[in-house]
Amino acid sequence: MKILGSAAGGGFPQWNCACASCRALRAGRFPGKARTQTQVAVTHDGRSWFLLGASPDLRAQIEGTYELHPRAAGRRNDEARDSPIAGVVLANADVDHALGLLLLRELQPLRVYATPSIRRILCEDNSMFRMLQRMPGQISWTDFTPGTAFSLRNSTGEDSGLRCRALSLGTHFPPYVSPQRRSELVADEASLGLIIESPAGKRLVFMPGVPQLDEALLHELDSADLVLFDGTFWSDDELIRIQKGSGAQNAATARQMGHIPVSSTEGSLARLAGLRRPRKIFLHINNTNPMLDESGPEAHQVHEAGWEIAEDGWQFDL
Ligand SMILES: [Zn+2]
Repeated sequence: MKILGSAAGGGFPQWNCACASCRALRAGRFPGKARTQTQVAVTHDGRSWFLLGASPDLRAQIEGTYELHPRAAGRRNDEARDSPIAGVVLANADVDHALGLLLLRELQPLRVYATPSIRRILCEDNSMFRMLQRMPGQISWTDFTPGTAFSLRNSTGEDSGLRCRALSLGTHFPPYVSPQRRSELVADEASLGLIIESPAGKRLVFMPGVPQLDEALLHELDSADLVLFDGTFWSDDELIRIQKGSGAQNAATARQMGHIPVSSTEGSLARLAGLRRPRKIFLHINNTNPMLDESGPEAHQVHEAGWEIAEDGWQFDL
């Protein structure tokens, strides 16, 4: 498993953000690292890789990861098209999570796993996605149902050995989905957590957007070996406080945006303090989150609680 990107939508720094952290990072005096938008890739055999989501930074993330480079070097030029990327599993239809699919459009056969609701939003409502369906066998869309496990297969149907199960975490579709379309979709298919299981039974949990925690979810997390959890916001009113100064009127709380904050008595650090089994890593970190500052009290508090803060390029063997 590799973490190719660990930031929330917009990345760090974000192109239109002049918060103290983004300004300091641009000026080369921020005590922390730049990050691209969240992207995770998993493999069992090291040959076939599956992307969890497809980030807007995917092109650079692939180029920066030698395991994902084409392997056709030395062959005839007409055989030069190749990719270790066998497929993509989508957890939601957010721009930050699905835009990268359009970057994979060069007629490369791929299997894309999604709930029917997410597939319909992308393929039926967004005509640009027809670029992925220009010829038979280009993208094989494969529907899945939350709660039901399925094998990850490449475009020709070969089983990778990895299994995936999705959990319904939220019922909000992206803001670009029309009310009419929303009424035709299944709310439980909107926003998912993904659980990837190896043939040996090792479990990776990928949950970049968690609106709330209940007992069933806690149990699921405690039976995992590695948890990649929503680290978007430090506090519930983080965006409201930052946007106040710029006169913006449309800021929302973390919870309204589908993200439980890291701090506070009802935040993830406190609610997940009892997790004993898994290695715990925050990812999908927004540029406004103060825990990005490696020298600050927030990062210290996170590390003291036994959590790590994901960085681009991290790699794990389960
Ligand atoms: Zn910023």
